[in-house]
Amino acid sequence: MQRNFCGLRLSVGSLMVVLVACSSSYAARAVRSSESGDSLTVVIDAGHGGHDRGGIPGQRVAEKNMTLDVAQRLRNVLSGAGYHVVMTRDSDVFVPLATRVAIANSYRNAIFVCIHFNATNRMGASGIETYFYTRDSLPLASAVHYYVTGGAPSANRGVRRRGYYVLRKTAIPAVLVECGFLTNPTEAAYAQTASYRQKLAEEIAAGVRGRSSLGSASYIDQTKVTRSERHSSKRSHKKSARKKKSSSKPAGSEARSGSINREA
Ligand SMILES: [Zn+2]
Repeated sequence: MQRNFCGLRLSVGSLMVVLVACSSSYAARAVRSSESGDSLTVVIDAGHGGHDRGGIPGQRVAEKNMTLDVAQRLRNVLSGAGYHVVMTRDSDVFVPLATRVAIANSYRNAIFVCIHFNATNRMGASGIETYFYTRDSLPLASAVHYYVTGGAPSANRGVRRRGYYVLRKTAIPAVLVECGFLTNPTEAAYAQTASYRQKLAEEIAAGVRGRSSLGSASYIDQTKVTRSERHSSKRSHKKSARKKKSSSKPAGSEARSGSINREA
């Protein structure tokens, strides 16, 4: 819907830049291949896992399985293209959010791509959203969202800025893609198709490759919404938190509560 990327307005100056860039395409190619060869690390984070199924209570399709499958496919696509790839989880295990962030932050020249699927009590809700938090992450979010929405039949719910834990705490460009609603029968059917999950992985990979060339999309700012929701949800969960205070927070729980709240 909103694809007003920068750089579409061609002035004489920018035209000259384009011409210069074309004349040095060999050099550009060399830069690209060295980047994809060994300098950039892509940390892929499959949402949820283990006892944390993701989604909402009673949800038929477990989000944790869909996120892992897309993450593994994305790993294969990016590895094939020469990127160094690190997975925060590569099986059905629970990994705390802080551990996911620590893994991401242990790499210097790296980006973080977090895979989720959405859920809500309203069955009709559908579409794809891409989240970022830091300004450095917006070009990556814009590119990933551009390609994923371009390759998916689902609605475009826009690029959004929001303070999810894994986006706030990572020191590298970080995005979180919500690849459709598993509570929507049509999107759940898509998600359960291997060819569709492969397509998602390929489009996310295209976003990784194109992150520096598409510019920044306009976005929906949900940073204020997040803050108030976090406060109210903290308050409402105080009693249960006291009862089971030793249990750590499920991975992606912010994303899950966010999904519900987004539809409220
Ligand atoms: Zn999730």
